Amino acid sequence: MGARRGLTRARRLVLKVGSGLITSPGEGLDAKRIKALAGDIAALVAEHREVALVSSGAIAAGIARLGLTSRPRSIPEKQAAAAVGQSALMWHYEQAFKRHGIKVGQVLLTSQDISDRGRYLNARNTLLALLDFGVLPIVNENDTVAVDEIKVGDNDNLAALVAHLIDADLLVLLTDVDGLYTGDPRRDPSARRIETVEAVTDEIRKLCFDEVGRVSVGGMATKLEAAQKAGASGIPMVIASGREPGTLGRLLKGEPLGTHFLPRDDRLAARKRWIAFAVPPQGRLTVDAGARKALTERGKSLLPSGVVGVQGEFSAGEVVALAEPDGQEFARGLVNYDAGELRKIRGAKTSEIEKVLGYKGLAEVIHRDNLVVLSGPGGC
Ligand code: GLU
Repeated sequence: MGARRGLTRARRLVLKVGSGLITSPGEGLDAKRIKALAGDIAALVAEHREVALVSSGAIAAGIARLGLTSRPRSIPEKQAAAAVGQSALMWHYEQAFKRHGIKVGQVLLTSQDISDRGRYLNARNTLLALLDFGVLPIVNENDTVAVDEIKVGDNDNLAALVAHLIDADLLVLLTDVDGLYTGDPRRDPSARRIETVEAVTDEIRKLCFDEVGRVSVGGMATKLEAAQKAGASGIPMVIASGREPGTLGRLLKGEPLGTHFLPRDDRLAARKRWIAFAVPPQGRLTVDAGARKALTERGKSLLPSGVVGVQGEFSAGEVVALAEPDGQEFARGLVNYDAGELRKIRGAKTSEIEKVLGYKGLAEVIHRDNLVVLSGPGGC
């Protein structure tokens, strides 16, 4: 309950609502639900809390407006649906918040706006200026231009990145289910809601997969990714049901609703957060067990001798993922060598680098200051 009480002090929060909550199948946006949501958010604003809303629903709304019977398959059609739906979405929010005297501002982002440092700062400044004006930013992915390569891909992760951008105190994902369960509550009567998650471990991650092993239940996989991203920056996250009105207010009074993900204590510095989450890795290094231990338990840098495999084509200065031979990614870092150089020096002793490459390079493949451990001791 102590950690829950901490939520009552959240002054700046990011709230994400999924398409399922604000649209009805085949009929598009559900004005009644949007009104109810606006009422709940207005109550938080009245308590002098700052809220940024990340709302899905553009594509679902567009499909209904265009009279399509199913989700379009082609990218241009999906993007056209998003264009039509996004303006309808904002129109509904405008109307709903106007009744509470709240102005809204639309912010559409792609992953490039977050991975490029300059654009990241620009997006951050805009969001903070909106909050300063007392405007409620309503964020979505810029679905009309974003194709897979430049997409965050889902609004759970986008919401976590927005929480980073504005240094939020809390991230709340409102969804169809009232939290993370020990099993699939639709099929397993003994499944119970987990009230608190201290760290997103492999055991927790397993809970998002059903017995087939691949199908995500209620979109939980992306929610756990969001919890990990938020937690790494010291931001707690709650998954709660958006179906019952008043949930938000009750959560912020410290009631034990939904699932509360505790943040990690050693909040990552902004630069490390950027390395860990904002930039998609350009390649992957496989390291041996000794190197993993040195990196995760002893805070060492990665040396060429610990690298056993190099995948992908990347340049020095780019972000790569680190994994053990079993394939589980456990860290990310800014690499000092390009992929071709690393293929030559992998496994070599530091004293051999010059002989192998023909020039004197840095001793570390990834310096500890540029390395972020994601799981294992000290991970998130
Ligand atoms: N950006 C998408 C939309 O507004 C939704 C993505 C998601 O829900 O994760 O339709």
